[in-house]
This record gives sequence, C-alpha cells and structure tokens, in this order.
Amino acid sequence: MNNRMKIECKDCGGELNILEDAVVGEIVSCPDCGAEFEITSNSEGKVDVKPAESVGEDWGE
Ligand SMILES: [Zn+2]
Repeated sequence: MNNRMKIECKDCGGELNILEDAVVGEIVSCPDCGAEFEITSNSEGKVDVKPAESVGEDWGE
C-alpha cells in the first residue's frame, strides 16, 4: 500500500517521493533543494512532473 515513486529533481538531481495515488495538479517539493514540482500525469505507475511556478500569476514583488 501507499507505494512511492521516485522522480529525479530537475534542479538538483535529488529524489522526489511521490505517492502512487498522487493526483495531477498536486505539488511536491524536493527534500534536498526545496524546488516545487507539479504532477502533470500519473498513470500505471508512471509519473511526470513539471516545475511549479512558486507564486503563480503574481508578477508583483
Ligand atoms: Zn532538488
């Protein structure tokens, strides 16, 4: 139960632990560098992520 998948952090090469039942749109953060990634797909044990923009659409300070 609750199998985890490991995805390589695109920033530092560390390991992101993603739960098998993680949903698309969920944000995971790298335990090593703190970078945040958004899950873009999760099917049949294969997960893809993309870098998450830290403050979304806020282009102010
Ligand atoms: Zn990292």
